[in-house]
Amino acid sequence: MTPVEFRRHLHAYPELSFGEEQTARFIAEQLTALGIEHRSIARTGVLARIVGGGDTRRAVVLRADIDALPIHEAVDVTWRSRNEGVMHACGHDVHAAVLFGVLKRLKEEGGFDGTVFGLFQPGEECVPGGASLVLAEKPFEGYDVIAMIGEHVEPRLEVGTFGFRAGKYMASNDELHITVHGKGGHAAMREQIKDPVTAAADMTLQLTAMNSADSVVSIGRFIADGATNVIPDTVAMQGTMRTFDESLREQIKRNIHEAAAATGTKYGVTIDADIRRGYPCVVNNPQLTATARTLAAGNYRTVELPLRTTAEDFGFYCSVYPSLFYRLGTGGTGATHTPLFNPDERAIGYGIEFMNKLTRTILENGKEKREDNIR
Ligand SMILES: [Zn+2]
Ligand SMILES: [Zn+2]
Repeated sequence: MTPVEFRRHLHAYPELSFGEEQTARFIAEQLTALGIEHRSIARTGVLARIVGGGDTRRAVVLRADIDALPIHEAVDVTWRSRNEGVMHACGHDVHAAVLFGVLKRLKEEGGFDGTVFGLFQPGEECVPGGASLVLAEKPFEGYDVIAMIGEHVEPRLEVGTFGFRAGKYMASNDELHITVHGKGGHAAMREQIKDPVTAAADMTLQLTAMNSADSVVSIGRFIADGATNVIPDTVAMQGTMRTFDESLREQIKRNIHEAAAATGTKYGVTIDADIRRGYPCVVNNPQLTATARTLAAGNYRTVELPLRTTAEDFGFYCSVYPSLFYRLGTGGTGATHTPLFNPDERAIGYGIEFMNKLTRTILENGKEKREDNIR
């Protein structure tokens, strides 16, 4: 099966986060057909392994996510989604096809030292993120993981273009669930109430004042379900908090809790700020980024990526291993997370060629360094 056929199969049978059962079975079958060893991971993921020569404890992990989104596909192609209301609208089918193609080439061509893991990871789109489940299983224990590599499609970049950014790249995302408990009553008798609506409004202004170049705090849901003459007992607010720096992330959380306590005192209400942990920041290792950029620059168009306030569960790996997350230009039509997203499949070939070369280069570089240490 070619990588494009592999992608079209996944695209036709998309599955939602943590429900990738047929997807995992299909991937496992295809790996078996290539003679590549693999096992199940994080319940609906697949972990492939190809052992090369030399010091096989040195490992590179290539990660592709495999989940789809609850979107009704509107693209008219023969491989359109057969699973009603579910669509590979974030290009994870392309990521998986590129990884499949790279593993196929590494297996067939060999000629590398170390171990390459191919991680087909479930549940990228939903908290707690498949990456956190993968790490909880400690699948790389006993290995020296010298690089964790991931890519993502980018329809705004033409096919044959790769995007890189060293250091901070994508944001952490935490969910805000804030409830203001006051004392409702007749809206005309203010002396008898502890007004949660005013307190919540004040709290919203304080939260949005926390926005900066390095952080986002937004409230997108605000439910004060009273009436013209009724003040409700409670107000519920929900929002998102994003940063590019883990220490800033902790600082903003403290600021939110302090604002909740002070505002509660000011209005005589109680404010519960439940901050639900999302994904960590994606921070790219500078050396790996430089290696990848140099390699790509000789063969393809490359661009410097801007900071993104979107999040990726790849951030979990960044806090554990030297990691690199880059963008694969897929051109085509439509934006990701929309029913019309339709990447140009020629990108798959570019993605395979580059990831294959990058993997081999990283394993070679790592080897030199190790030999230097021995000398
Ligand atoms: Zn997505
Ligand atoms: Zn995605």
